[in-house]
Amino acid sequence: MRATRIAIAVLLAGLAAFAAPAAGRAMRCPGEPVVASGWSAPDSERICAAATRALAFLRAAGLSPPASIEIRPLARRRRGDATQPLGQYDGGSGVVSLIRYEAAVSASHAHAPAFGLPMSLELWQSFVGHEVAHAVAAAHFTAVVARRAAAGEYVAAVVQLSTMPQGLLRAILERHDAAAFGEAGEITMLLYQLNPAVFAVKAYRHYVALGDGGPAFLAMLMREGLAP
Ligand SMILES: [Zn+2]
Repeated sequence: MRATRIAIAVLLAGLAAFAAPAAGRAMRCPGEPVVASGWSAPDSERICAAATRALAFLRAAGLSPPASIEIRPLARRRRGDATQPLGQYDGGSGVVSLIRYEAAVSASHAHAPAFGLPMSLELWQSFVGHEVAHAVAAAHFTAVVARRAAAGEYVAAVVQLSTMPQGLLRAILERHDAAAFGEAGEITMLLYQLNPAVFAVKAYRHYVALGDGGPAFLAMLMREGLAP
């Protein structure tokens, strides 16, 4: 009897350890096919919140998510390296990587900060939306690979700006008075590489101006892509 009680206690302790994930373990975002792996619990919650907003926006625009999206911390590069992306999406593995918030703050001091604004948790979270949009777009592209890059950045920028808090969006729009893209031919990787913030603002204003035609434009981008 005593031995049985001890055995049950050991079993319960084992189950409790299994049920409570340690910091840095994987967390499945509630109701979404998204797993945040290798983050602290608060960071996982921030990542899930941003990913959930991005997926809701994309679904409403007709783009459903793939079966699974994993979001991991991006390994920190050595000091002195050229500018590091805040996030990236690897089409081969289907994994989204994002630099940790602390690293994003350091990078915003070392290099020109994203959108010309101080790094904040809200701005950092908006890059979750950006990279999740790349993962979703990758699942919908039927355009030839050479025509996907600028189209993917357009979708990512629209999702990032559309799903960030209003105050942050207002600050970005006030800072960048770039007009909306006039036509699809203006949406180029050259502009994205020259100034990703201007590209993003032009994309957002273009998408808003499309009104009800936005989802059809995204569907066209998935089908036909854009000139490289
Ligand atoms: Zn991007």
